[in-house]
Amino acid sequence: MTSDAATQLRVPYVIAHADEAVPQRLRFARHPLGRLRLAYDDPRRGDMAHGVLRARVLNNQRGAPQWRKLNTLRQWRCMVKNLCQVCGQVATDPETGRISWIMTDTAFRDIPDVANSGYTSAPATCRACIPASLSMCPQLHVSSAVYTVARSEPAAVLADMFGPGPGGLAVHTGEHNVLVGLNEPHLLRNALATQLIVQVHDLQPADRK
Ligand SMILES: [Zn+2]
Repeated sequence: MTSDAATQLRVPYVIAHADEAVPQRLRFARHPLGRLRLAYDDPRRGDMAHGVLRARVLNNQRGAPQWRKLNTLRQWRCMVKNLCQVCGQVATDPETGRISWIMTDTAFRDIPDVANSGYTSAPATCRACIPASLSMCPQLHVSSAVYTVARSEPAAVLADMFGPGPGGLAVHTGEHNVLVGLNEPHLLRNALATQLIVQVHDLQPADRK
């Protein structure tokens, strides 16, 4: 890569960096109501988010970018606050109040019988970052479209799934990126969430100027 290309290739806000990974020391702990629930060996405030154990990561953007991996904390923050996944700034258009969003085939799922809505694991992209986003990722041209949405709300997570072993041991079931609804407490108890999925409302094609 030439130095010109390197300076143009901006690492998006949500992309994970190598030095942000931390070990996940997990176990099953019995909760006051008597149910076993996945937890960290050294529980801390903030381990749980939206009723599910969230994967721990650092948030320092140090180390080599891991282009196929999202930083759980930044992805979550983008989803909850409607921030742009590229620059990390608010993705809501101040004039229209609508949030601009690139929907890709891989990260978007329709909701049967609910018009102009869907689930997505990819955060919004602000209007200023859309041209660069589309040009940076050739794949986006063929499988994506630019939309705006009126609002979004947390609906599910993508999670690694665990089961209780002897002595409270947390045993990975081998399942990664399982979609678990925030209304599925029996599954959330066994889940380590790595990404937040939102439902978007009033999805409309953006006018491309
Ligand atoms: Zn942006």
